[in-house]
Amino acid sequence: MEQLFRKSVREMVPYHAPYIIEGIKLDANENTYPVLEALRAHMSEWAQTMPINYYPDTDSTKLREAIGKLYDVEADWVLCGVGSDQVIDCLMRSTLEVGECIVVPTPSFSMYKLSANVNHGEVIEVPLNEDFSYNVETLEEAILAHKPKLTFICNPNNPTGSKMALEAIKRLAKLEIGFLVIDEAYMEFTEESGIQLLKDYPQVIVLRTFSKAYGLAGSRVGYALAAPEVIQMIGKVKPPYNLNCFSEEIATWVANHHGHIMPLIKSIVESREDFKSYLESLGCTVYPSATNFLWVDSKWPLDDYLREASIYVKRFQYNGKRYYRISIGTKEQMEQVKRDLKSKVKGEM
Ligand code: PMP
Repeated sequence: MEQLFRKSVREMVPYHAPYIIEGIKLDANENTYPVLEALRAHMSEWAQTMPINYYPDTDSTKLREAIGKLYDVEADWVLCGVGSDQVIDCLMRSTLEVGECIVVPTPSFSMYKLSANVNHGEVIEVPLNEDFSYNVETLEEAILAHKPKLTFICNPNNPTGSKMALEAIKRLAKLEIGFLVIDEAYMEFTEESGIQLLKDYPQVIVLRTFSKAYGLAGSRVGYALAAPEVIQMIGKVKPPYNLNCFSEEIATWVANHHGHIMPLIKSIVESREDFKSYLESLGCTVYPSATNFLWVDSKWPLDDYLREASIYVKRFQYNGKRYYRISIGTKEQMEQVKRDLKSKVKGEM
C-alpha cells in the first residue's frame, strides 16, 4: 500500500500540532486574550440568519473588500485562503514545475519546505546568521545562483523573532528573480511592511493572517496581497468555496473593526519585553523579537518545567542545540509563567 503514495509523501515528516485545551497554551503564537465581546455578540446575531444551507461566496468578496480597505487597495489585490497555509500551498502549486526550487532562510516556518516538497519542488535553505539575524548577502547569492521560482522571507521570522529591514527586502525585490514572498504573519507586532513595495515590484507577494494578532486562529483565514494579475493566476488553483461562511463573516467583522485589536497588541508587546528581561535574569539568552513570541536559549528544560504546571511552550532542535519558542499570552498568564519558572529554577540554583 505504502508504495501507492508519492515518494515525497512517504518520506515526509508531517506538521505536528498538539491539540491543547487546558492550562496555558503558549506554543503556537496565538493571541490568548479572550475573544472580543463585540465579536461574540455580532456572531450570535449573525447565527440567527446564517445562510449555511448555501455554498459560501467562492471569491470571499466581502472579506477581500474589507481587507483591501485596510491597505488602501482594491479587492482584486487580495486572495483569501484557509489560513495562509493554504495560500502557501496555492503559491507552490501555481508556480513550481517538477524539480524547480524555492529559497528559504533557516530556521524558519516549516510549511514552506513541507509544501514545496509535496509539490515536487527543491528547497535551498540559507542559514540565518549565528545570532539569528537575517543575512541579506547570502540570500542574494542563493537567489542569483539558484534562480528560484519563489523566495520566502518570513518577516518577522518564525521561530526566531528576527526582522529584515525594508531596505534589505527591497534589495532582494530588485533582483526580479522569481517571486519574493514576504510572509508577514507577525507584522502587526512591528512596522515596515513590504505592502508598500507591491505597486513598484510586481514580483512581490505579501502574506498575512488573521490567526495571530487578530486572534482568529480557530477560524483559519489568511490571505495574499499582490498585483491583480498575480492574484488571478494563484487564484486558478484555489479550491472552490475554500472559506466557509462562518470564517468569512468573522474575519470581515474583525477587518472592519481592527481598532479593537490595537490595545491587545500593545499589551502583548509590553509583556514580551517584560518577560524577556525576566528570562534574562534567570540566565537565559533571549533574542530580540519583533513578534508575539520569544526565541530562547536556556540551560533549563523550560518546556518540561512548565508542562508540570500545564503551561505549554514549543521546543526546537537546531544545529544540535535546544531552543524554546514561548508565545506571549495575557499579562496574567505571563505573571503565572514567571511564578512557575521561578519556583522551578530556584530549586535548581
Ligand atoms: N506563516 C507563519 C510565519 C506562521 O507562523 C504561520 C502559523 N504558524 C503561518 C504562516 C500560517 O498561519 P495560518 O495558516 O494560521 O494563517
